[in-house]
Amino acid sequence: MFNGHPWIFNNEVEKTDAAMIPGEIAEVFTQDKKFVGRGYVNPKSQIQVRLLTRNKEDEINEHFFLERIKRCWTYRQKIGYKENCRLVFGEADELPQLIIDKFNDYFVLQTLALGIDVWKPAIVKALETIFDPKGIYERNDVPVRELEGLPQQKGFLSSPFDTKIVLSENGLKFHVDIENGQKTGYFLDQQDNRRAIQHIVKGADVLGAFTYTGTFEIHAAHYGAASVLGLDISAAAVEQATANAKLNGLENTCRFETANAFDTLKQWTKEGRQYDVVMLDPPAFTKSRETIQKAITGYKEINLRGMKLVRPGGFLVTSSCTNLVNPDMFLQIIDMAAKDAKRKLRQVIFQRQASDHPIVRGLENTEYLKFLIVQVI
Ligand code: SAH
Repeated sequence: MFNGHPWIFNNEVEKTDAAMIPGEIAEVFTQDKKFVGRGYVNPKSQIQVRLLTRNKEDEINEHFFLERIKRCWTYRQKIGYKENCRLVFGEADELPQLIIDKFNDYFVLQTLALGIDVWKPAIVKALETIFDPKGIYERNDVPVRELEGLPQQKGFLSSPFDTKIVLSENGLKFHVDIENGQKTGYFLDQQDNRRAIQHIVKGADVLGAFTYTGTFEIHAAHYGAASVLGLDISAAAVEQATANAKLNGLENTCRFETANAFDTLKQWTKEGRQYDVVMLDPPAFTKSRETIQKAITGYKEINLRGMKLVRPGGFLVTSSCTNLVNPDMFLQIIDMAAKDAKRKLRQVIFQRQASDHPIVRGLENTEYLKFLIVQVI
């Protein structure tokens, strides 16, 4: 906690003055009575306090949330965001366990801990004051809330509105299903990475796996790919991806199929299929440190299969979205896969999530998305 980390674990707490009421605001002091900060408590959690401020002057009230969210928006604007962005990225914005995605005039939020959940009315009010939104929606249908004793729920936090919206990214349009899409409905974190495929896909036959709503694939078609095929295990995702291709007039180049990528990529390798570019954006595979091996095995296997499908001299575009696999570990996994596939790799780019999901030095959980393009020789 002294190094700027906003979490205070139970083994760091020597004594409490009064009973800690779950979700309430507490002040934290060092043993020699120096003020550390104010945060919300959950005595049942290993993380007993999550700090909201280190400034003694800050009272935690409606005004505090208004100012914090204003600060988040000012920062996003400063670094170039106008329409869509992750407006609040939890700990990285000193608003622990609060996620807010801004899809132009629509806002989707998640409050993932009790102590932030109780401030939902203040957060909604702040959004109304700053943005005059067309709609605010809660996507709290996530299991992690149950660890905090909170129910999984979703619904309107504003007057009801049509939750099927369209957003623009990199000059393309995408349907976003706020109510039933994955997570908050759209993965904003890959925005810059989608643009990064611009040159390598020209004239290429492209295969994309874990396509979700087809964002990478539609970018590939837009940037001049000869043919694009996207795979996802979810029929709903494939349907949405197909609609997205049409929305951009790219339905002749871009096709989508429902398939398990692991089986299909294996099968197609056996059949000797080859692509100029293979793109992989798999889910996290694990959410806990205990089962990290599962993630490593999953990433290695899918990348091995992906590489085998790349024509010599073609490109592999590969991502990993869990903070449990750090950038070095990810590269090691890719190297292991290359060794098994008997292929050599030449790194084109290796980057992270878009900067509306800030990486805060020392806050390792904030550096989570790895995005790598390699030429497969
Ligand atoms: N590339 C997308 C995000 C992908 S999220 C984007 O930028 O928007 C991961 C996707 O993988 C989900 O849509 C999920 O349905 C899909 N998925 C999970 N397991 C899969 C499997 N075994 N085969 C194919 N798709 C899978």
